[in-house]
Amino acid sequence: MKVLVAVKRVIDYNVKIRVKSDQTGVETANVKMSMNPFDEIAVEEGVRMREAGTADELIAVSMGVQQCQETIRTALAMGADRGILVQTDAELQPLAVAKLLAAVVAKEGPELVLVGKQAIDDDSNQTGQMLAALLGWSQGTFASKVELAGGTAKVTREVDGGLETVELKTPLVVSVDLRLNEPRYASLPNIMKAKKKPIDTVTPDDLGVDVSPRLEVVKVEEPPKRAAGVIVEDVAQLVDKLRNEAKVI
Ligand code: AMP
Repeated sequence: MKVLVAVKRVIDYNVKIRVKSDQTGVETANVKMSMNPFDEIAVEEGVRMREAGTADELIAVSMGVQQCQETIRTALAMGADRGILVQTDAELQPLAVAKLLAAVVAKEGPELVLVGKQAIDDDSNQTGQMLAALLGWSQGTFASKVELAGGTAKVTREVDGGLETVELKTPLVVSVDLRLNEPRYASLPNIMKAKKKPIDTVTPDDLGVDVSPRLEVVKVEEPPKRAAGVIVEDVAQLVDKLRNEAKVI
């Protein structure tokens, strides 16, 4: 079985995000970029399937600027077999990414596509669902366990009230949640080996996909600053503040 895994290049989760002074977006110049953390989990799951023999090829796909190659290399160093970069300088929204992934699926014919449950930059949580809809495939979202067996997949999902297990037919799209696994660190020998693994580069035009944005970002703002706390004198004052200022009791 062929497995495709989508890996997005995002601002590293440790970076303190700064909003651009013209409020059109966030500062990305000279900022550390990394693989979206949920996508690391998706790659790990694909590599484990590869090691268990459930998958016979794992292909990492990234969409965006040329530097997304580095994100693909990280996936290759973790154990993916080859990469596909859909290169564009255009700003990509989830629908465009889903259409590009659908076009790659049509070319490659995988039975499973693994994506992160959300990208930590746009927090959209849309791409996997849109992809499943475009392909007419099953979808298992927010997966904390995936078991594949002969044409079906049992996916345990993290839902508000606990865990839900669904049985789905393949082919399918799985969006992965935090508790699915703990991604490995790539070892130095594997980083070296990854340099030799192939990455194909295509463009949205090659795939016949129109990636023009459907949404316009009107304004990006910092969240309001938190007010400093106060130390209360006694319990009576605390109760008074909770009742009359915070109005929570
Ligand atoms: P989102 O819907 O934007 O929150 O993204 C959900 C998931 O879709 C991510 O975790 C990735 O697996 C995938 N994805 C989104 N954008 C891209 C991209 N530009 N390149 C590769 N994968 C992407």
